[in-house]
Amino acid sequence: MVAAVAGIIALALIVAVVVQFWPIFAAAVIGLAVCAIVIVILKERYFASDGFKAVREEIASVVQEHNEISDYVNEIREQRRFTVGKSTTGMHAHLAESKNTSSWGYKRDRHVAEYGSEFVHNAGLQVVRNAAADPIKYLMKYFDISATEEKLGEVEDLGESISRLENAVQNLKNREAAIATTAAPPGYITRFFLKEFQEKIGLSIPPLSIPYPMYKFQYVSAGGNSSQETKVKLDSQTIDSLIETMSEKIRFKKSAAGQRSLMTAKFRNHIKTRDKFTCQSCSVSVAKEPNLLLEVDHIKPVSKGGLSVETNLQTLCWRCNRTKSNKELPKPKP
Ligand SMILES: [Zn+2]
Repeated sequence: MVAAVAGIIALALIVAVVVQFWPIFAAAVIGLAVCAIVIVILKERYFASDGFKAVREEIASVVQEHNEISDYVNEIREQRRFTVGKSTTGMHAHLAESKNTSSWGYKRDRHVAEYGSEFVHNAGLQVVRNAAADPIKYLMKYFDISATEEKLGEVEDLGESISRLENAVQNLKNREAAIATTAAPPGYITRFFLKEFQEKIGLSIPPLSIPYPMYKFQYVSAGGNSSQETKVKLDSQTIDSLIETMSEKIRFKKSAAGQRSLMTAKFRNHIKTRDKFTCQSCSVSVAKEPNLLLEVDHIKPVSKGGLSVETNLQTLCWRCNRTKSNKELPKPKP
């Protein structure tokens, strides 16, 4: 109520000021409109100019390579899994319907628990607080990420998906920056018409966000008056800690599998450094191509019993790795 009255008073004041000084406001509006028209005319002339066409031709091959990686980013999103573990609180919540029928209902239920989501664990306040202090332990306990070799493999696979997408997206961003530097369009183009510029040079930009799994511990009081939540985002850093914590708890079978290395982001970097940032298949290297996208590959795939040991790991450029994994995929039945 108070806010509404304040809003009306403010509006009345603004109207009064505009009426009092209308010539100044009219001049400002006309000035802005003229500026906008001039900028649009300049932009049209720039895109029609020979200079722009020459630039477009010059960067055509760079743009094409960028777009291929852009397709690859979409492929990673579609083909790989980005989840692990789930909570079972509210697993059957969809079978029931609950309603606040008290006459004060409109004031209550300010906080409504999210039952029915695999990524939300509904718990008491103490659990939500403890989860903030020790997220890895609580993640494992309440989201069914048990310390087994099988689950560890799943978490490592998630880490692989996340880091592959992170690297590819970062690579695209670097390439876009390089293209902007080479093409060097006038400042007003990058400022006001960046999207149009990217379209005109034929750049295709995929969604650049990373679908990090987000796990939530949630407490909602019985009346819905208070709530608290702890969120844990599974980014590379959290995944690496999870992998390390799990492996400490696992009693590995006394087999070669127990002797393997943990596939963390740190370890993948170690393999790339060992291989001197050079593709072991086609020999292209970061030294020759600064924006080269490199990945770590299991020579014998995990699905065929390959182990994460140094001798079974190699650095490949994204092209060679894509060709190799497409060959390994089960062939679609005709
Ligand atoms: Zn290669």
